[in-house]
Amino acid sequence: MTLQEIVNSSKRIVFFGGAGVSTESGIPDFRSVDGLYNQKYDYPPEEILSHTFFMKKTDEFYRFYRDKMLCLSAKPNKAHLKLAEMEKKGILSAVITQNIDGLHQAAGSQNVLELHGSVLRNYCMECGRFYTAEDILNSEGIPTCSCGGVIKPDVVLYEEGLDNNTVTEAVKQIENCDTLIIAGTSLTVYPAAGMVRYFRGRNLVLINRDATPMDSQADLVIHEKVGEVLSEIKI
Ligand code: ZN
Repeated sequence: MTLQEIVNSSKRIVFFGGAGVSTESGIPDFRSVDGLYNQKYDYPPEEILSHTFFMKKTDEFYRFYRDKMLCLSAKPNKAHLKLAEMEKKGILSAVITQNIDGLHQAAGSQNVLELHGSVLRNYCMECGRFYTAEDILNSEGIPTCSCGGVIKPDVVLYEEGLDNNTVTEAVKQIENCDTLIIAGTSLTVYPAAGMVRYFRGRNLVLINRDATPMDSQADLVIHEKVGEVLSEIKI
């Protein structure tokens, strides 16, 4: 079956997306080779984006974070737009994403489960007051609350656990869909990768530039750019 035929025969699609969904909007994938070691930083991104590093070297964390993570001018691409359209037509029940850029919501998607949080939400660690991404971008050094507390992005850092409610809802969505489209992820990041095991529907579709460990289990595998593939779907 083609992707179009699968979509045509599906009543409840769930989309599970990784970094590859946002790279076409110009947001770098930190697990890709070229993103890894930047001369401007003394530590690899995996270390900077860890809970320990945030607590110990907060100013260095924010130097990297403002420079590399806050891509506030990025726009939704063809993948985000098509998924929002599919939700409006009532054939897509949820987008589960590993991305933290808020681009699905910017495209109009309503039910977005952000496994790794969002750069658009930031909270004071002392009083819980909310701050926008612009507040963080426009601050200098360590962003602090009016109460004096340090502000932390609502982003799941390395060493931190995922939000239980988000995971529970994502599993529920995967268990109850007839088609699961996994795209833009190498499916190697735990625990997100393990969530795919809950799928018991009819069609498992994988869209990723490179091969993944799950290719052999999928009903349809497409090794192309996510935006190109999704934009061709007619609904
Ligand atoms: Zn505060």
